[in-house]
Amino acid sequence: MANKTELEREVVDMNLNVSFDDIAELEEAKRALTEAVVLSLLMPDFFIGLRRPWKGVLLYGPPGTGKTLLAKALATKGKTTFFNVSPTTFASKWKGESEKLVRILFEMARFYAPSTIFIDEVDSVGTKRHDGEHEASKKVLAEMLVQMDGISELNSGKNDNNENGEEIKPKFVMVLGATNMPWDLDDALRRRFEKRIYIPLPNKTGREQMFHINFKGIKLSDDVNIDTLVKKTEGYSGHD
Ligand code: ADP
Repeated sequence: MANKTELEREVVDMNLNVSFDDIAELEEAKRALTEAVVLSLLMPDFFIGLRRPWKGVLLYGPPGTGKTLLAKALATKGKTTFFNVSPTTFASKWKGESEKLVRILFEMARFYAPSTIFIDEVDSVGTKRHDGEHEASKKVLAEMLVQMDGISELNSGKNDNNENGEEIKPKFVMVLGATNMPWDLDDALRRRFEKRIYIPLPNKTGREQMFHINFKGIKLSDDVNIDTLVKKTEGYSGHD
């Protein structure tokens, strides 16, 4: 049966080594994410009250455009524990187990804080198409909403004192969602993702940078012309 250790083994990614320099273009996304995570970790006293950090950031756009890569680079840069989950992580054949897994995931994230929880294909956790939907997936969605509200309190900078009267720093947990189908996302869940960033297909500069990143350290034959490759790959994603 799925338990905490199994879940931990499956979702906690300790050895990330992705830097923003490995990602072509997407400057706007990199800037917004750095601001959301790295700055709020560096200067927690500034990000309080109205300026509290976002509880959730949604990356949306076509598949294979670097959303997972961005999430990993962000976790590396902010030195946060990275939880990589997809809706299949929560799939459990035991009744009542799925929403429990969501709860354990967030508990773990608080324990290992500061943490980033990355949920790929977040639209399948909460879709709008409720008719005929399984009772279990509604429960997973409901639990997810409750947990995301929970983190906003955690991140709001309300410092409590422990029994010795010492101040306990707020624990920073951020949820990063990725989806190719933002229109399918449940309204309540979408509202929890306060910041939404569009990740488009790479443009000319992006594709050029991608060739340079991927050809790094490889000796190219004289007849390889990057400009031609860039022109020929219009409309392709990074993954393609
Ligand atoms: P998705 O948006 O579906 O999460 P991924 O981040 O998993 O896409 O990207 C898949 C692969 O495509 C990456 O492992 C990487 O090799 C390549 N890739 C996509 N976008 C970029 C990018 N902007 N810069 C460098 N590589 C990219």
